Amino acid sequence: MDDTNWTDRPPDTKSQPALTLKRTGPTKTVGICLSNKPIGTLVHFWRGRTRPCLGPLLCEACHDGQTRRWKGYLALYNPDERKVWIHEFTENAYGGIGEALESFTSLRGHWIRFERTKPVSNAPVVATVSPSKSPSDTIPEDPDIKQVLNRIWDLEDQLTTAPETSPTEVKELRPALYPRGNGQPRAVK
Ligand SMILES: [Zn+2]
Repeated sequence: MDDTNWTDRPPDTKSQPALTLKRTGPTKTVGICLSNKPIGTLVHFWRGRTRPCLGPLLCEACHDGQTRRWKGYLALYNPDERKVWIHEFTENAYGGIGEALESFTSLRGHWIRFERTKPVSNAPVVATVSPSKSPSDTIPEDPDIKQVLNRIWDLEDQLTTAPETSPTEVKELRPALYPRGNGQPRAVK
């Protein structure tokens, strides 16, 4: 493990509320991006939970022949509710984010709108990035997404060895990993 969490007292939960992981709602989810760029990894939906893929050598879900998919994560902020959360998005939604990254050096301070293409909970999501008027020093700090996900996935030791990939790499792997007609994305809970 590269980062240890030793402290001399329990965490101050009042000043640092645990961040939640959210997916796009039934129609859309909008927030100001706190992250400079997304971070993503390959995950499985395995035994009722989303779990990071630990690579074909170590991964139980891979041994079981389970499909893995790339998921990206960004920290978003709702200025009206003053709430920060980690937003999970799909490879499909990466399209708009990837385009924005070609125009802007950082996503921080920009509005991101994740919207379903149909009003059903498992419809594909597309992302649109647009400039916000909030200067980036008036929004909260960029949280450590990996640390939040480690806590949520409860895999602190193992996650440091999980492969980090970009959607491009996933596409290159696709013929082996995604046999045709192998199911639809899971419904969002
Ligand atoms: Zn796996």
